Amino acid sequence: MKTKRWLITALLAALAAAQAQEPVDVLRQRLAERLSTPGEGGAATKGKPAAKAAPKPANAAKADGAKAVAVPWGYTGDIGPDRWAELAPQNKLCAVGTRQSPIDIRDTLAVDQEPIAFDYRASAFSVLDNGHTIQVNVAPGNGLTVMGRRYELVEFHFHRPGEERINGHQFEMAVHLTHKDAQGRLATVAVLLERGRDDKPHPFIQTVWANLPLEKGEALQAQAQLDLNQLLPAERGYYTYMGSLTEPPCTEGVLWLVMRQPVALSGQQIGVFARLYPMNARPLQAGSGRLIKESLGAAP
Ligand code: ZN
Repeated sequence: MKTKRWLITALLAALAAAQAQEPVDVLRQRLAERLSTPGEGGAATKGKPAAKAAPKPANAAKADGAKAVAVPWGYTGDIGPDRWAELAPQNKLCAVGTRQSPIDIRDTLAVDQEPIAFDYRASAFSVLDNGHTIQVNVAPGNGLTVMGRRYELVEFHFHRPGEERINGHQFEMAVHLTHKDAQGRLATVAVLLERGRDDKPHPFIQTVWANLPLEKGEALQAQAQLDLNQLLPAERGYYTYMGSLTEPPCTEGVLWLVMRQPVALSGQQIGVFARLYPMNARPLQAGSGRLIKESLGAAP
């Protein structure tokens, strides 16, 4: 019954919007939002339809992976990265932005950067196949402080191959840990993953893969706990620059913190993700003269 009432509300809203002569794709987006297409689900999506569907301002900062983009998009063909901007008006920055991600990290300025103060702890988590990646929602209480600002962890997810490159080098995979501060500003930590010894699977990744849900769009609550400290590399030097979400709507103003030392996982572990998402990386974006800082000290 509830679903039906919803549908009627959605249709009425669409009709009202139509009378206000809104573009068709906005209508479609609103309808889809009301009908809750499982997208890059927000924190703790449990496969339930999103009850609140009020469209947010297109330019509001949204977490990388934390906002359902109802208009279908992907990594190839006519919904691929070259077309993202055409898919919906709010995706405009995907085409015209000058602070886009990912980038090739090179010509950095080595400076005395303060360490990132990670505040991660063993936490309950759920795993979601959101149709674009494997996304992990972690219980509240995890966060980091950098440049005097505290950011809370929203979710983390995977890319294959890694989206950001270091001096042209591309990594097998990458993890993006999306954080948000009290004002809605985003900070994303990237942990680069490389293929290590096949007899040494990474225990943290092993725990995530063990809890992969069988169905898309339905988050699986894990019985185990995850401690994100186990994912971080031993050496905590990092690159930092200002960029964007690497998926629609390509919102800018994202503080990127890219850990310099990659983390090893086994070929078998890469193979598991590759079966689900063989390629979910946005192509490199122009650096456009952006400053990239790097921690002083040993590169790995
Ligand atoms: Zn990402």
